[in-house]
Amino acid sequence: MSVLRIAIQKSGRLTESSRKLIAESGIEVEQVGAQLRSAAYNFPIELFFLRDDDIPEYVADGVVDAAIVGLNIVKEQEVEARVVRELGFGRCRLSIAVPKGVAYSGVNSLEGLRIATSYPNILRNYLASKKVTAEITEISGSVEIAPSIGLGDAVCDLVSSGSTLISNGLVEVEPVLQSQAVLVASPTLSPNKEEILQKFLFRINAVLRARNTKYITLNTPTEAIPEIVKLLPGMKSPSVLPLNLPGWSSLHTVVAEDEFWEIVEKLKAAGAQGILVLPIEKVIE
Ligand code: ATP
Ligand code: ZN
Repeated sequence: MSVLRIAIQKSGRLTESSRKLIAESGIEVEQVGAQLRSAAYNFPIELFFLRDDDIPEYVADGVVDAAIVGLNIVKEQEVEARVVRELGFGRCRLSIAVPKGVAYSGVNSLEGLRIATSYPNILRNYLASKKVTAEITEISGSVEIAPSIGLGDAVCDLVSSGSTLISNGLVEVEPVLQSQAVLVASPTLSPNKEEILQKFLFRINAVLRARNTKYITLNTPTEAIPEIVKLLPGMKSPSVLPLNLPGWSSLHTVVAEDEFWEIVEKLKAAGAQGILVLPIEKVIE
């Protein structure tokens, strides 16, 4: 019986969300102490807890079969791994930033500068694509302080809110790569392992689809249903049940949460009452 070996970050920004996704997929894994690996009780996977920088190479070498890791790391390491699915967490971008006050008028302003980064490969490819020649200084941590200690004229670093850049007197000028956590897999899995990967993916899909969707129920005068249905975005047609009150109905549907907030006032104005928003655990398609 095959077991699919999946690496996740041991401890860092992706750890909690990776574990949560696996747990919500109904897969139980217990990690005791500082254990490096742990098998699931109820699904044929074994988790490996690794530093994120080591993960792409382990996938490429076949030490593990799949992994959850930042796209930024996968792109930087240029190893053979297939990106199976974007996971919607760990969102950030790799951006070029320059000290506040430096005149900047587009990517050509980078010509001849020294740019400090932990992502030399991605940066080199980016500069080449823009036909800009700059010097790349590779440093492994605290890139944002490089200009202030004379280690570069600009930086290329990961940004999420941008507050770290601002507090170091830097201004973001060029987004280089949009990143998020991704599920990657070895391009050469045995048929058995590929089958487990697809089952794992099926579960993950059900969880991720459910995350932004809500189950909505509301009461409405029956005559207002056509107008209310027009307001509800896309999806399938809603279910309508009669209420035990003449002329009134209850309407049930599924909507994306961000779209729901856009229309809630309009639903009320159209006559909807007693609107309930319920979480959905899984969406199977
Ligand atoms: P490790 O000990 O595993 O090497 P690390 O310190 O290199 O950890 P973390 O800071 O935990 O890595 O970041 C892991 C991943 O989280 C990044 O590679 C990136 O994909 C994502 N991420 C999301 N937002 C940010 C951010 N603001 N800064 C850095 N990484 C971020
Ligand atoms: Zn790391």
